[in-house]
Amino acid sequence: MKITEKIRTARELYLNRNAELRSDPLISSQLCELSARTEASRRASLESGVAEACRRCDEIEGGSCCGAGIEERYTTELLLINLILGAELPEARYSVEGCYFLHSRGCILFARDILCINYLCSRLQRELRHGDILSLQDATGKEMEAVFVLHNSIRNFLKK
Ligand code: SF4
Ligand code: SF4
Repeated sequence: MKITEKIRTARELYLNRNAELRSDPLISSQLCELSARTEASRRASLESGVAEACRRCDEIEGGSCCGAGIEERYTTELLLINLILGAELPEARYSVEGCYFLHSRGCILFARDILCINYLCSRLQRELRHGDILSLQDATGKEMEAVFVLHNSIRNFLKK
């Protein structure tokens, strides 16, 4: 399925089932957990210097790794999670070479695919301090786990 079709399906599910999903105790607590872990990951990225290095790479050095095609990894359920968390999914691609979810301010998603959460280019792996890499991996590991369990819960809920 193309990304635009997945977005359309996710929007329909959001319109029809958002209230039901949010009132489910398990999904509601997993949504809170994912938000907290995503925030912890974002802090670790700022504190380790990764956020700043990636900003410079993207804006000054022209080396962003958010290329066109990565959006194909995104499932309808993961897009639905983003809508529930308040993300505004784009109507069109911002840049021909960029991922569908890359905008001028960076990635517009709140819940990301494992590849997007986990990726560190070889330059950053060389340049970051070992302790910072470990802290970052700890935070991103918890974020990926939260995405995985919520994704499964939503998939099972929608099958009911
Ligand atoms: S991970 Fe590496 S290549 Fe990707 S944006 Fe950051 S610095 Fe650039
Ligand atoms: S981080 Fe966001 S913009 Fe970058 S590849 Fe992943 S989904 Fe696309």
